Amino acid sequence: MVEEVLEHLRFYRELGVTELQLAPESTAGATIGQSALADSPMPQKSAQTESVNPAPAQSRGRSVPLPALFTQPEAALNDPLPAPVETLDDIRRELGDCQRCKLAPTRTNIVFGEGHPRAALMFIGEGPGADEDKSGRPFVGRAGQLLTKMIESIGLTREQVYIANVVKSRPPENRTPERDEVATCLPFLLRQIAVIRPQLIVTLGNPATQALLDTSVGITRLRGSFHDYPHLPGIRVMPTYHPAYLLRSPDKKRETWEDLKKVRDLLSQLSS
Ligand code: URA
Repeated sequence: MVEEVLEHLRFYRELGVTELQLAPESTAGATIGQSALADSPMPQKSAQTESVNPAPAQSRGRSVPLPALFTQPEAALNDPLPAPVETLDDIRRELGDCQRCKLAPTRTNIVFGEGHPRAALMFIGEGPGADEDKSGRPFVGRAGQLLTKMIESIGLTREQVYIANVVKSRPPENRTPERDEVATCLPFLLRQIAVIRPQLIVTLGNPATQALLDTSVGITRLRGSFHDYPHLPGIRVMPTYHPAYLLRSPDKKRETWEDLKKVRDLLSQLSS
């Protein structure tokens, strides 16, 4: 427990956070800076995750208090958007043992994505690496551990968000997915997004940002501000650096923390 708290504090310091406030009545512990999450409503439902590839016991059975903030408010289901006509399971079933692109022969497992099926917040990466290919789960390697810390730094858990990638099969040697591979796989991700209908999507790095925003502009120019998701109204996109890049360039963590604070604050605002 103490070691976990210390690890969190070290991460905040790495991100450039110099001040912590204690939430007054909180059993939830410290909030970061001027976190609006300190005032967030308390748990209403427990988290249910939908994952084609089961999560390890350690995270699967965990009972996570789920502030209303992090699931879609019921009102969101009454908005003018048509109700999704399919489920995540339908999409996974249709994907099957996908052989649609040239990544198929070298992959071990399809990495479909995992998390809360009605998450308000999604994180989208580039494509599975070696650890993800082996386990069939997104972001479980070193970059994944940093992503988990990024999620936790804004007061959330992996079970409360949804995590997926632009391509679902590992590119050989972790190369960047090629245009035709993205073109083949992206429609499945766009359908997952349409089913989950998050309020906010964080794209991690260039390939995810460019694929979701349908642009060739680079991450350095796009990160730090919200963009409209071009495929469905009402969804905002915050591009930020990929955690694998942050492992190589830790000096970029400060900017990433600024982006994450904006995400935390918008989620808090949308839920109030
Ligand atoms: N990098 C990604 O973009 N996605 C993963 O799932 C793991 C590493």
